[in-house]
Amino acid sequence: MTGRFAPTPSGRMHIGNMVAMLAAWLDSKSRGQRMLLRIEDLDIPRVMPDADRWIMDDLAWLGLDWDGEAVYQSRRTDRYEEALRLIEPRTYPCFCSRADIRAASAPQEGDGFQIYPGTCKRLSRDNPSEVAARLARGERHSWRLAMPEPGSPANTVTFTDRVFGPQAFDLTREVGDSVIRRSDGLFSYQFAVTIDDLDMGVDSIARGRDLLRSTALQIWIRECLVADGLEAAESPINPQYAHIPLVDDAAGRRLAKRERSLDMGALRTRGVTAEQVTGCCAWLLRLTDAPEPCTPYDLLRDFSWEPLRRNHTDRRISSASSGCPNWLA
Ligand code: GLU
Repeated sequence: MTGRFAPTPSGRMHIGNMVAMLAAWLDSKSRGQRMLLRIEDLDIPRVMPDADRWIMDDLAWLGLDWDGEAVYQSRRTDRYEEALRLIEPRTYPCFCSRADIRAASAPQEGDGFQIYPGTCKRLSRDNPSEVAARLARGERHSWRLAMPEPGSPANTVTFTDRVFGPQAFDLTREVGDSVIRRSDGLFSYQFAVTIDDLDMGVDSIARGRDLLRSTALQIWIRECLVADGLEAAESPINPQYAHIPLVDDAAGRRLAKRERSLDMGALRTRGVTAEQVTGCCAWLLRLTDAPEPCTPYDLLRDFSWEPLRRNHTDRRISSASSGCPNWLA
C-alpha cells in the first residue's frame, strides 16, 4: 500500500499544511505503507522558485520521511498528453471566458467549484462545424471532461471518507463538466493528480477537507481513464480517503501561504522546535489533549482517525482558543 505527500510549491508550508503532512505520514507509517513525495508544480504561474527545496527541508526537519526520489508534475506532461488523447471522446473544447461562466453560474461555493452551465457542450452537439471553425482559427479554449448523463447510475459518486464518513455527490449538479486542460495549455490539478495517483500506485490519500468534492471528480476521472485503458504501472485499486479539517487564523480565515506569520520559515526563525510543531499538529489532529512537544514516531503507535472522526470541525489558531500554544497564537 502507498501513501503520498502532494504539496504545491507556491510558498513556504504553514502549520495547516504540516497538519495534513503529519496526518498522511502517520496514516501510511502506522500501516507499514510506502510514502511517496510528489511536488505539484504544474500551475507554473503559482510556483515559487526554491519552494520545493523548502518543502523537503521542512519535512525532513520535522522527521517526516519519504521513499525514493520526489516526483515533479512539471516533468510528466507527456504522460498527461497521452491520457488526454485516450479520453478525448469524453471531452469538448470550451471557448467561455471566466466572466462568461461566472455570469451564467450559480454562486461559487467555498471550495472554489463553479458548476459549468454547459454552453460549449451544447455548441459541440448542435453546431460542430462552428466548433471546428473556431478551433481552426486558433481561438483560445480549454478542454472540459463531460460528466455522465444526469440520472444515470454513474452520475452519483459515493465513497466513505475515513474522517467525514459516507459521501455522495451528484456529478452533474455538484461538480459539473470540468476543465482538464486550461486555455493556457496547462493541465488541471484534478486531471494530473488522478493520473499521478494511478501511476504511483497510491491507494491511501490524506489531505485537506476542501478537497472532498474534488475527490468525487477524481473518482470519475479515474473511472474514465481505467475504462479507456490507461495503462498504469500499478494495478488500479480505489484509494481510501481521509479528509482533514482546516486550520483558520485568528480572524477565522483559512490559513494561506501568502500570509507568512505561521509559515515554517517564520516559526523556525523564532526558535520554535520541530517537537513543538509536531506536538501542535498532533493536538490539531485531536491525537493529544494538549500541544505537548513530541516526535512523529511518538505518535505512531496510537495513531487512529477516530478522534478526528468524532469531532472534525475546523480549528482556529488564536490566543482566545483554549490550549493554543503562545508561540503560535
Ligand atoms: N497539491 C495540493 C495542495 O497542496 C494537494 C493535492 C492532493 O493532496 O491531492 O493543496
